[in-house]
Formats: sequence, C-alpha cells, structure tokens
Amino acid sequence: MYDERCIFCRIIKGEIPSVKVYEDDEMCVFKDVEPKAAVHLLAVPKTHFKLLEEAGESGAEIIARMLKKIPIIAAGNGCKNGYRLVINQGDDAGQTVFHLHIHILGGEKLSDF
Ligand code: AMP
Repeated sequence: MYDERCIFCRIIKGEIPSVKVYEDDEMCVFKDVEPKAAVHLLAVPKTHFKLLEEAGESGAEIIARMLKKIPIIAAGNGCKNGYRLVINQGDDAGQTVFHLHIHILGGEKLSDF
C-alpha cells in the first residue's frame, strides 16, 4: 500500500531523493539524512504500515525476511565489526516517521544505551 502523505512511501517511489544502497521487491535500504553513527541506514518495507502491531501476518513475514538480509547489507556498507538495529515504536520512543523502519547503526564503536 502507498500513502502519498508518507515521506518513506515517497522515497520508495523515487518522488523524494535518497541514497539507496539496496532494493528488492519488498524492501528498500537508504542512508539516513541525519546520521547518528558513521553508518546509519534505514531498512524500510515497501508496504506501508506504521507500527509492528499493524504489520499483520504478511508484514511480519516481510520483516523476518528483511532481518535475514540485513547482515549482508550491513556488512557490505561499512559495518564489518558489528552493528545495532533499532525500531522506534510510537511517541515515547521518539518515532518521527510513521512507516515502520529498522535503523542500522554501525561503522564505529557505538556508545552504550
Ligand atoms: P524515527 O525517529 O525512528 O521515526 O526515524 C526516522 C528517521 O528518518 C530519522 O533518523 C530521520 O533522520 C530520517 N529521515 C527523515 N527524513 C528523511 C529523508 N528524507 N531521507 C532519509 N532519512 C530521513
């Protein structure tokens, strides 16, 4: 599903520029515009859903396949020595874009959290 009000849907469609490092039929990975680490990528399902609880069975399967691909994508983009995955969920977590996405952070020794 495409939501024209969603910035990530528009990035996926190519309506808003981004630096894409990986794309297939169900996911897109691009560089975060305000990186919080030496490597900061966003892995985004092409199907629009805001939160994990909205993913449903098919969304959960997409996320599982994304998680399977992420190690290769991370390693190929500068995360040779580990990386951190973050999924912000809702306001308390500071989620700002309500299209589910997985932050991939690495390329340096990350601080504890
Ligand atoms: P979150 O706060 O978890 O919702 O993460 C949203 C992320 O999207 C933030 O890290 C932003 O820097 C990033 N972001 C927002 N707009 C863009 C954009 N046009 N291109 C790439 N990353 C973006």
